[in-house]
Amino acid sequence: AAKSDDVLRSPVLCVLGHVDTGKTKMLDTIRRTNVQLGEAGGITQQLGATRVPAEAIIQRCGRVKGFTPEKVKIPGFLIIDTPGHESFANLRSRGSSLCDFAILVVDIMHGIEPQTLESIKLLIKRKTPFVVALNKVDRLYGYESNPQKDIYQHLKSQNMNTQLEFKERYEKIVVEFAEQGINVILAPDNKDVNEYISMVPTSAQLGDGVGNIMAYIVEHSQKYLSDRLGYIEDVDCTVMEVRSLPGLGTTIDVILVNGTLKTSDIIVLTGTDGPIVTQIRDILMPAPLREIRVKADYEHYKEIKGSQSVKILAKNLDKCVAGLPLFVCNRTDELEILKKDAHDQLQKALTSIKKKAEGVYVQASTLGSLEALLEFLKTQKIPYSNVNIGPVHKKDVQKAATMLEHNSEFACILAFDVPVDREVQQFADREGVRIFQANIIYHLEDSFLKYREELRL
Ligand code: GDP
Ligand code: MG
Repeated sequence: AAKSDDVLRSPVLCVLGHVDTGKTKMLDTIRRTNVQLGEAGGITQQLGATRVPAEAIIQRCGRVKGFTPEKVKIPGFLIIDTPGHESFANLRSRGSSLCDFAILVVDIMHGIEPQTLESIKLLIKRKTPFVVALNKVDRLYGYESNPQKDIYQHLKSQNMNTQLEFKERYEKIVVEFAEQGINVILAPDNKDVNEYISMVPTSAQLGDGVGNIMAYIVEHSQKYLSDRLGYIEDVDCTVMEVRSLPGLGTTIDVILVNGTLKTSDIIVLTGTDGPIVTQIRDILMPAPLREIRVKADYEHYKEIKGSQSVKILAKNLDKCVAGLPLFVCNRTDELEILKKDAHDQLQKALTSIKKKAEGVYVQASTLGSLEALLEFLKTQKIPYSNVNIGPVHKKDVQKAATMLEHNSEFACILAFDVPVDREVQQFADREGVRIFQANIIYHLEDSFLKYREELRL
């Protein structure tokens, strides 16, 4: 497709990191940017994502050294609202990541923590560039906050002891990263982005350094990601969530990175029982933020252009799998190819997962949650021999039952956030397959470990 060199789309951003490092706070603070701007700034909270327009970025970066508004070529950021692994893992597109750039939040007081490492692994696996937010600098002893200033200049104006503490903690973290084979350095000192990952000191709580991190993302994405961010007409769209809503039926929330979606477009999606072909009936976006947001207050669109996140209404969405692409069928002769594509997407994703000969059967609602659960099982040294997406069916029970001959303690299904019909449960009882069901990963692990203990007694 034709690529117009000058037109860039908004990069899709994700926030990752260990629990309590300040991911949610960081998102809130970046979003809050434009509350002061009022209507004009027009940060719109979309479905599962927030659009931060260029004007709002420019306002926040006003005092950042070396930043000029004329430099901003991207229309803004599209920031995924739910921080963490799972939402990142769901942002897949043909095996790579839809997330263009990530913010990895590290607590400067704690350094690298277990989920910091998991995040880094995921980012490297998906080849997603990222910046480290060295967060909570306000907790340095004697730190004086000023969110208006350039953070590097501001750090130099702190009292000597505060500067020393910063230096010590910073150097310790550099070593911790080095032990993981990763070179990190403060962003202004980074002369080679292929060699070093940049770090930006921030206080997500007070706003210090948040302008610097936003400016860094603008510069980095325009300088190094302009090929990727060039807007093209080919539709690149991923299903983020499948949600049933009163009055609307089952809807899908999608991220449209590139191209245009229109009402009445014929779309092809991956379903748990094969490809879904349907027609877009309506495209919805939440109304712009008001003082008090009225729930289910949507605006309707006939046409929408990437990067945006929207809700799509259509028939037959019940079995749609989140974490996979949405295809638009422009010509009838494309339909069969797209259906095959949609089918292959899921198979490819499932077969690419490395499994053991002996282990539990794992089933989840989305690819993102499956991946998160598998990561977790790995850390707990619980092996898995098979995986699937969607509700537990009899055929899943049959597959899990094969473990009875090998290692009966693994003849069980860990069903994460998926329904199990009574009939299927009865079938499992007869076959001797245990089904553990939960909506929280830790609960699932607990019941499995307890069951294993009981077997040992
Ligand atoms: P998440 O689990 O990574 O999403 O972390 P949260 O954003 O929920 O933050 C965890 C806790 O750290 C909350 O009590 C926040 O108020 C606090 N926090 C987050 N950012 C900062 C910061 O920059 N400075 C300080 N002092 N506290 C922060
Ligand atoms: Mg949080």
